[in-house]
Amino acid sequence: MKTKSDKSVVVIGAGIGGLSAAIRLAASGLPVTVIEAQATPGGKMRTLPSAAGPVDAGPTVLTMRAVFDDLFAVAGTRIEDHLTLIPQPVLARHWWPDGSRLDLFADPQASQAAIAEFAGGQAADEFGRFHRLSAQLYEAFDAPVMQAARPRLGSIALNAIINPRLWLSLLPRMTLARQMARSFADPRLRQLFGRYATYVGGAPDLSPAVLALIWAAEQRGVWAVQGGMHRLAQVMAGLATGLGASITYGVWARRIERQGGRVTAIELSDGRTLACDQVVFNGDPAALLAGLLGNGPQGALTPQAAHPRSLSAWVWAFAATPQGADLVHHNVFFCADAAREFGPIGKGQMPDEATLYVCAQDRAAGPPDPGTVERFEIIMNAPPKTTQSPGEILQCRNRTFPQLARFGLTFDLPAQDAALTTPQGFSHLFPGSQGSLYGRSPVGILASFQRPGARTQLPGLYLAGGGAHPGAGVPMAALSGRHAAEAILSDLTSASTSHRMVMPGGMSTVSRTTGSAPSR
Ligand SMILES: Cc1cc2nc3c(=O)[nH]c(=O)nc-3n(C[C@H](O)[C@H](O)[C@H](O)COP(=O)(O)OP(=O)(O)OC[C@H]3O[C@@H](n4cnc5c(N)ncnc54)[C@H](O)[C@@H]3O)c2cc1C
Repeated sequence: MKTKSDKSVVVIGAGIGGLSAAIRLAASGLPVTVIEAQATPGGKMRTLPSAAGPVDAGPTVLTMRAVFDDLFAVAGTRIEDHLTLIPQPVLARHWWPDGSRLDLFADPQASQAAIAEFAGGQAADEFGRFHRLSAQLYEAFDAPVMQAARPRLGSIALNAIINPRLWLSLLPRMTLARQMARSFADPRLRQLFGRYATYVGGAPDLSPAVLALIWAAEQRGVWAVQGGMHRLAQVMAGLATGLGASITYGVWARRIERQGGRVTAIELSDGRTLACDQVVFNGDPAALLAGLLGNGPQGALTPQAAHPRSLSAWVWAFAATPQGADLVHHNVFFCADAAREFGPIGKGQMPDEATLYVCAQDRAAGPPDPGTVERFEIIMNAPPKTTQSPGEILQCRNRTFPQLARFGLTFDLPAQDAALTTPQGFSHLFPGSQGSLYGRSPVGILASFQRPGARTQLPGLYLAGGGAHPGAGVPMAALSGRHAAEAILSDLTSASTSHRMVMPGGMSTVSRTTGSAPSR
């Protein structure tokens, strides 16, 4: 259905959530203006230059493809007409300091066989039970949480009544670490699946057990994007402009103005003021709370919408020729003791030992010829921070490359400091975030219910992005954009219905005659 409006809907930020909202709003016939501070779209889906070309310095793989199939269909096209997606039969290769190694596969039977060889028949049985639990959690949370505008507790409870096995995972004190301790006897498997908490910026011993569903999300397919993940953001920006949206890069939204209790305009760093009735904010909700967009959004969110903060990371993105380890696209080099990683991080310190994720970007379609200069992204978890001491970069280097060398992985050229994005760097790139990469931390069973939804308490101001419901990660951010667009369209429809219902004598049959947002 085409919706009419004179003023543009302004989307602040061309991250995945902002672009997803822009595509849907433009496809509905609304004028849309996207304002992006950086020179390119994508936000965290960014690249850094290297001798082998732009190297991904953000997300490395695409999951929950159906979310994007749906978004591209809204734009009247198909993802495969714009991007080459390379399915990954090996989801990840995992390495431990004791010399053991485990591949997990897109095919669960292959994973079970690999686990049997790795840790024995009992572990393979445990994996089978975990696999089923993960699928059930995914089913229980997909429609009522991820796809819904707000989490529906009643539907989750109903699912748990139908399937009592789920109750245990929903208990208030059931963290992902506890769930993994119940699921697996082998500490390496506990460590492996417990690490899913970090996918949404949490620590395994604080995050809810339901994050075990991430395994089921990966079972639905993991794809690399030919040319790098950043291509997805570029294509999405192209879809938005193709539908009539305008995108201005290199300009900050400085203020969101309100009058009469609702959004009226935004003020830009280039001196312009754009009058608007609806703003989608794709930055970190913490920026609104910190007053970085002026006083207008004051009271739009409660502090709990953005606090406590999720994890940050040290991220290397560089090109070099690797030696000594048989890498696949996705590789995880575990530290010996997860407590020595997450204990210090929880206190805001550099981990004593680090688990390192290594993406060999050019191996998505198989190993390149020996001696090839390849692109790499290495991620080490870190606490959120706005400042850092000069020594910390050296500490990060020492936690990264010597540790990889102990696993036999070396590079012919040392990565330059410029190839490193630090937590402080992230806090500059994403103002108000304090370096957190995933918005509010997923602490506790109620984490899903505490993220802000698309509507805020300020009529006309909507949220989209990893800091809003349903949370962080590329597909979730895209879903948040859908929720923001649907909220705007529904509010516009109810506003125009209200106007149409004004009686000839001027008396309104309903009390609400503007597009003010209903409370959540
Ligand atoms: C190193 C790393 C690895 C990751 N790996 C994965 C992965 O493998 N799989 C996965 O699914 N997810 C992954 N993620 C998470 C995923 O990248 C994010 O959750 C998702 O991209 C966030 O999208 P977003 O919509 O929140 O927008 P963001 O990426 O946060 O972008 C927000 C945009 O808004 C702009 N902006 C903010 N304020 C203003 C303003 N005032 N004026 C103008 N512009 C503004 C910013 O410049 C930015 O471009 C990873 C993230 C990182 C950092």
